[in-house]
Amino acid sequence: MKNWSGNIEYRPAEIARPSSISELQKVVADSSNVRAYGSGHSFNTLADTDGTLIAFSEFDKNIEIDSSKMLVRVPAGVRYGEVAPKLHANGFALRNMGSLPHITVVGATSTGTHGSGVGNKNLSGSIAEIELITATGDAITLDQSELPAARVALGSIGIIHHLTLDIVPTYDVAQTVYFDLPFVQLISNLDAILSAGYSVSVLSMWGDEFVDQVWVKSKIGTNPVLTQNEWFGAKLATRKSNPIREADSAAATEQFGLPGPWFERLPHFKLDFTPSFGEELQTEYFIDRKDAPAALNAIYKIREELSELIMVCEMRTVAQDENWLSEAYGRETFVFHFTWRPNIPAVEKLLLKIEASLEPFKARPHWGKVFTNNAFDFSSLYPKFNSFLTYRGTYDPSRKFVNKLLETWGF
Ligand SMILES: Cc1cc2nc3c(=O)[nH]c(=O)nc-3n(C[C@H](O)[C@H](O)[C@H](O)COP(=O)(O)OP(=O)(O)OC[C@H]3O[C@@H](n4cnc5c(N)ncnc54)[C@H](O)[C@@H]3O)c2cc1C
Repeated sequence: MKNWSGNIEYRPAEIARPSSISELQKVVADSSNVRAYGSGHSFNTLADTDGTLIAFSEFDKNIEIDSSKMLVRVPAGVRYGEVAPKLHANGFALRNMGSLPHITVVGATSTGTHGSGVGNKNLSGSIAEIELITATGDAITLDQSELPAARVALGSIGIIHHLTLDIVPTYDVAQTVYFDLPFVQLISNLDAILSAGYSVSVLSMWGDEFVDQVWVKSKIGTNPVLTQNEWFGAKLATRKSNPIREADSAAATEQFGLPGPWFERLPHFKLDFTPSFGEELQTEYFIDRKDAPAALNAIYKIREELSELIMVCEMRTVAQDENWLSEAYGRETFVFHFTWRPNIPAVEKLLLKIEASLEPFKARPHWGKVFTNNAFDFSSLYPKFNSFLTYRGTYDPSRKFVNKLLETWGF
């Protein structure tokens, strides 16, 4: 069994597919090593185990909306692409989405998956309640006071069977794409560009003096929809675009400033198409937004070394939060997200250079992507890392939920 991009082979001793909470309790209680699988869109072995891998393909699919409390309760294994249309049909929405609707709500929030927007937290920021199975097989609802510790927990405190998320009234978004933004304009107008919409993505191949594309997603009624032909020296796109220049534009969500429901504009990719490219690797580094100009210049200096492997580099923002292992914990965040051709040894070599360039900015790597495992001291990058390990240990003293990758990260 492989992950979505095919770079990881999961090697569990067995796969369990519980169809009820009581079956799930029994699987967890009876296994000495357990991990859960979402939709396998992570690029590393985070979801793997040499014990029991739990898949939710046979589990409850019932999405429950509580309109009086403005909450939605979502079972494990359910994807954003299933939750979003149901919310919209009932007049509701989520605050944000990642670049693709194919990922599960539980798997995505567990790694701190994010979209973009200076005012938008990552997806775990919407979690209002966590229901999970502990190492003993007990079914519990975490106390509200535990949520900052538990919202981004990498599957290490228990197996989540339902998450409840905050919802908002539905809204429309329009997406406008610009081509060829001069790099000097990006650096000198960074805040204005990143704040030009509800969600903004800057996409570059780092090949020349220009940034290839800027995708501005405007919330109708809140942000003006950009229509000008020239914007900070960039040109309004007159043809549809994919974030990856060589990929099919049909897979991308609608553009040209045409308003549509939030869930058909906030992701870059449509649910019924392959997102991104397919055969690829991804890495992602999170820094403090105030360091973004210096970090952009640091990457600019090594840009020629990226050219053979890069498919695209997407730069986004994430609002700070209070969730202990969130990559945006305690700082307004700027993100470098690289999509690479799937040449693992060459990518690993290049990552050493990128990580050295971003080291002065205390870059935090995305938990679900490829990075140099032993290059990061998580206890210095995350002020609450050691508190998290203590907290986790209270639920999992026998280390049932710790796999080999988590061990290399200090768990
Ligand atoms: C094409 C592509 C585009 C992407 N775009 C973005 C993006 O825009 N922004 C971003 O931040 N990331 C992005 N990612 C990364 C992706 O969002 C994360 O890797 C995410 O965690 C994958 O979700 P998943 O459902 O596939 O979970 P998996 O990869 O299957 O699992 C992730 C983690 O969640 C745990 N988990 C899953 N289910 C449970 C459960 N029921 N209980 C406890 N733990 C559980 C797993 O054990 C594992 O630790 C992208 C990935 C791809 C392939």
